[in-house]
Amino acid sequence: MGEQYLRDELSRIEAAGNLRHLVPAAHDGCEIIIDGRRMLNLSSNDYLGLGADKMLRKEFLAQLNPENLYMSSSSSRLLSGEFPVYGQVETMLSRMFGKEAALVFNSGYHMNLGILPALAIGNTLIIADKLVHASIIDGIRLSGAEYCRFRHNDFSLLENILERSHRRFDRIIIVVESVYSMDGDTADLQLICRLKARYGNVLIYVDEAHAFGVFGENGLGLAEAQGCLQQTDIICGTFGKALASVGGFTVCSNAVRDILVNRMRPFIFSTALPPVNWMWTAFMLGRMSGLKPLREHLASISLQLCNKLKNKGFKMVSESQIIPLVVGDSQAAVKLASALRDRGFYALPVRPPTVPNGTSRIRFSLTANMSGEHIAALSEAIDELA
Ligand code: PMP
Repeated sequence: MGEQYLRDELSRIEAAGNLRHLVPAAHDGCEIIIDGRRMLNLSSNDYLGLGADKMLRKEFLAQLNPENLYMSSSSSRLLSGEFPVYGQVETMLSRMFGKEAALVFNSGYHMNLGILPALAIGNTLIIADKLVHASIIDGIRLSGAEYCRFRHNDFSLLENILERSHRRFDRIIIVVESVYSMDGDTADLQLICRLKARYGNVLIYVDEAHAFGVFGENGLGLAEAQGCLQQTDIICGTFGKALASVGGFTVCSNAVRDILVNRMRPFIFSTALPPVNWMWTAFMLGRMSGLKPLREHLASISLQLCNKLKNKGFKMVSESQIIPLVVGDSQAAVKLASALRDRGFYALPVRPPTVPNGTSRIRFSLTANMSGEHIAALSEAIDELA
C-alpha cells in the first residue's frame, strides 16, 4: 500500500517509453553478449580497449603480493584510510600534467559533485556550458552559488556574461567539458583561456572525462592537445573510461588541493577506494604515454565512421570517438537501435530528456580494439537501415 506511489510513478515512466532495466551481459574483447547474442559493443567507454586486454590484467595480477595487498581502505583518507599508493598516483599525475598538485576521488561523479561546493566560497559566480554532465549540474546545485549556463560552445555568450559579471562577483568559475558525451564535439579551450586572461578573478574548470587517455601527445586530454595545460586551472578526469579503472582526479594548484581536502564532502565523508584499485590505476598510468598507436588507431576509425555518416547526409559535429547518428524522432531511434542489434551491433538509442527534443539518436562510442573492418560492416548496416 505504502509503495503504491512508486508503482504509479513506474507506470508513468513506462507510459512515456522511458523505463530502464538492467540487462545481464557478458563481455569478450570488443563484443558484448546479451541473451546469447554476440554483438559489437558500440556503447562502451573502454576507449582504448584496455579494459578488455587480458594480457594487461595477467601482467598486473602476476606482480601482486597478498602480504601487502589491501582490498579495502576501511575508512576515509582523513581518518585512517590513507595508503602510500594514493600519494603515488597523485605524484604521477602532477608530474605528467606539470601541475603543482593532484587529488584523486572515488569516482568522476564524486569529483564533480564535490569540487564546486568546496571552491565556491563567498560571492562566487559559476558559468557552465549548457551541455555539461549531470554530475556537474548536481555539484553546481549543491554549491548554492549563483550560476548561469551559456548556449553550448557559444563563447561570445560566455564573453558577454563575463563582461557583465566580473565586477559584481569576487570570483567566477567557468565550467566546461573538453569532449561532450552526447555529440562528441569539443570545446575551444584556448579561446576560453584567452577570455579568462582578461580578468583577474576567473578560474577554469575542465572535465576531461571523455578525452583523458584519448587526446594529446601523451594522452593527457584536450588541454594537452590544444597546448593550454598551464592556463587551465582545474583539470579533471575519470579513470573509468579510457584508463580502464575506476575513480576520478583533479590536477591543480596546492591551494585548490588543500581546500578540497578540507571542504570537499564526497572526499571527506566516503571510504576511499581500495588500494588495489589505485595500484591498477598506477599500473595503467605508467603505460599511458606508450599508448599513442592505440590513440591514433581510434582517431582513424572514428574519422572513417564520421566520413561515412557525413557522406550519407547526416549533420556531423563529432570530433572524437563519440559519434551520434541523429535520427530525430524517438520511436525511429528505438527502431533503428533494435534493427542494428539484430545485425550484431549494440548501440543504444538516446532520447529526451538526455538530449533535446527532436534530436533522438543512436550514439556510437568507438574503442581502439575495433578494426576498420568492423566499421565497414557497421557502415553497410547503416546503409541498409538508415
Ligand atoms: N564527467 C563526465 C563528463 C561523464 O560523462 C561522467 C560519466 N559518464 C562522469 C563525469 C562520471 O564519471 P564516473 O563514471 O567516474 O563516475
